[in-house]
Amino acid sequence: GAAPIAGNDAPIIEISGLCKRFGSFSAVEDVDLKIGRGEFFALLGPSGCGKTTLLRMLAGLELPSEGTIRIDGQDMSLVPANKRPVNMVFQSYAVFPHMSVLDNVGYGLRIDGVPRDEIRRRAEEALALVKLDGFAARRPDQLSGGQRQRVALARALVKRPKVLLLDEPLSALDAKLREAMRLELVNLQETVGITFVIVTHDQSEALSMAGRIAVMNQGQVQQIAPPAELYEFPSSRFVADFIGSVNMIEGRIESASNGRVRLACPGIATPIEMEHEAAPPVGSTAWVALRPEKIDITKEPTGEADANTVSGMVEEVTYLGETSVYHVRISPDLPLMKVSSANLDRVTRRAFTWEDPVYLSWTATCGVVLER
Ligand code: ATP
Repeated sequence: GAAPIAGNDAPIIEISGLCKRFGSFSAVEDVDLKIGRGEFFALLGPSGCGKTTLLRMLAGLELPSEGTIRIDGQDMSLVPANKRPVNMVFQSYAVFPHMSVLDNVGYGLRIDGVPRDEIRRRAEEALALVKLDGFAARRPDQLSGGQRQRVALARALVKRPKVLLLDEPLSALDAKLREAMRLELVNLQETVGITFVIVTHDQSEALSMAGRIAVMNQGQVQQIAPPAELYEFPSSRFVADFIGSVNMIEGRIESASNGRVRLACPGIATPIEMEHEAAPPVGSTAWVALRPEKIDITKEPTGEADANTVSGMVEEVTYLGETSVYHVRISPDLPLMKVSSANLDRVTRRAFTWEDPVYLSWTATCGVVLER
């Protein structure tokens, strides 16, 4: 039909009220999402949260139970997978073993009846994009895992989709290669300029590559934000806990005014006072989320602070190379507090050991108060 052509600043993908049910089970529940042109966007969440199902609905491999998907301004409800302006790179990046690299990459174009010369030209172009110039004549079994993965990328890019969908594209690679490929994918996306939507359960992968991330849990989108915002300002306990490492302290709101809240927390002698714009009702339950590297650890008490300070004892030290994590017992009833050595010099870092009495403190801007 005469689909309206969307303007350049209109989102390339618009999802509204999207649901997918398998029988009585809701795999994707009422998702609204807009993804901009040229974005590197990540769908992040634990196994089973529905991210792959969402990606498959974008690709047209799964039909929504409810809701709509528009891509480039066009409703996709009646558009089959092979007619959508998207292409998908699968986790297993299956390539045809009996075909040369060039034929693998050109395969989709041949199906579409593109003339031979043009296939060759475009396939070579795509191979250059993924830095496989010179590999055109090889067969897949003569390639490393990382190179096969590039072939799969080239094959998806050769059809010049408006959106590239990537389902856990790095999960089959070993740790070192996976890290190198992150940067390459980012560079590739910048070069081709099209929208990348990547599915991953690996938070460091999403944080390091994506411009924006949608965190999903149990079929629902919990928060959509750029990486640093998700890390520093998570909007729920789920997100705070899923992204990075965090100490979650439960408390009761004692007072809230002037952008600050004061909480009484069982097991902690002094109150906790944090900056928090919303003023939750006095008496309600809330959680203070503190990142391990935002907590100061000292051997002597730091003055006569009447809030945000606790004493405890180091029960365990985890050495991680870049940093150490001190696990500090602050109360018999609370989980151990995780404190990172990130801000300590290397001498002080080694000075904290097992069974050391320590003092922990933090400032009111160093964590967030979560109401859900
Ligand atoms: P993973 O990272 O493990 O792949 P995911 O977040 O991508 O997880 P989905 O694959 O989208 O999760 O699956 C979401 C939920 O829907 C899961 O509980 C899964 O078992 C269920 N599911 C997916 N496909 C089907 C299907 N065809 N029939 C029934 N249930 C399904």
